[in-house]
Amino acid sequence: MSERFGGSFTQQEPIPEAGIEAALAVLRHGRLHRYNTQGDEIAEAAALEEEFAGFTGARYCLGVASGGYAMGCALRAVGVQPGDPVLTNAFTLAPVPGAIAALGGRPVFVEITDDLVLDFDDLAAKAAASGARVLLLSHMRGHSCDMEALMALCTRLGLTVIEDCAHTMGAEWNGVASGRHGLVGCYSTQTYKHMNSGEGGLLVTDDAVMAAKMILLSGSYMLYTRHRAAPAPEVFRDLRLDIPNVSGRMDNLRAAILRPQVALLAERRARWSALYQAMEAGLAATPGLRLIARPVQERHVGSSFQFALPGWEPARIGMLLSRCIARGVELKWFGVEEPVAFTSRYPHWRYAGEQHCPNTDRILAELTDMRLPLTFSVADAALIARIIREEVLITAQAGVVETALAPEIE
Ligand SMILES: *Cc1c(COP(=O)(O)O)cnc(C)c1O
Repeated sequence: MSERFGGSFTQQEPIPEAGIEAALAVLRHGRLHRYNTQGDEIAEAAALEEEFAGFTGARYCLGVASGGYAMGCALRAVGVQPGDPVLTNAFTLAPVPGAIAALGGRPVFVEITDDLVLDFDDLAAKAAASGARVLLLSHMRGHSCDMEALMALCTRLGLTVIEDCAHTMGAEWNGVASGRHGLVGCYSTQTYKHMNSGEGGLLVTDDAVMAAKMILLSGSYMLYTRHRAAPAPEVFRDLRLDIPNVSGRMDNLRAAILRPQVALLAERRARWSALYQAMEAGLAATPGLRLIARPVQERHVGSSFQFALPGWEPARIGMLLSRCIARGVELKWFGVEEPVAFTSRYPHWRYAGEQHCPNTDRILAELTDMRLPLTFSVADAALIARIIREEVLITAQAGVVETALAPEIE
């Protein structure tokens, strides 16, 4: 009898009791709008910003409506104009090029390496060819490039770096919190990320003018003095009549849900690491399967797991996915022709114009992806790895594989 996994790959943990209590308190008093405070009350949104600034070590923090809004807000504040090229990873998720397109900007895709991080040679080439001034760097699936080397290169190339940390909230590079190398760090608190408020986003920066612009952009209605992780009122005075209000505020209900989760990020990272390591250990030295190298400088949050199947034809990968799903293991594949749920590739973003990243195409055609929710135990991860290992061995040895379609999973 072969083993089967019975867990759900999309089931997150419940909201901590403290978050539920705080949310009920907000619902009971009814002041959900962040600027609706009584007397010297500190709004949940303002308190969250202070706490997340403290967690990342940033001077300033702003809560917003989503991760996508956070990136768009940072790009607008840095001065991206309609028609401007903006560099970004060819391997990322749809809201990243979407945030560029929302401003009328032009996403310019940069190749990735076999380790799934930005290719520096291609970055330099595309920066020169496009004339871009901004890099929206995506730490896709928690894989960070060498951040010191990247920042040195971007300084040389005259590129401002905005970081998409949707998958690296709580991670570190050489002891520095992810999101703290570039000018602005952007985070998402959407359900599948490292803190869950359904939807939501956070921005951090040390730059006072950027912080003031982003607060004004987010829709602060001249109530910016109610922010706490914010620059002094003088900084806003010169800006406030020139910055449009593009409403995308964080509300007190979501902030209340999130505040207790900030304190849990370090513990969650440790639990995610244990799941990730169980997967790595279970799949190590599997013939036909390549694990993704993790640099020692990185302290990552293993909320998802990727491995490559070098040289496998699409039908064989489809067969593996079907065999795994039959045993309860939901693997996704970045090589699918048509976008399926969250798994998308840059050719699927047709509005960005036709672009060619042959290395990325080759890497994604062999790359699988899996969520690792914290509702899984280490024993679950070990079981999943055993199932994948067995099925990889069988599928790799199968003769000619007829067209096997990848199963559709969320
Ligand atoms: C989820 C995600 C975002 C932000 O998404 P929202 O749904 O807008 O919060 C940004 N980048 C990546 C890579 C993501 O996965």
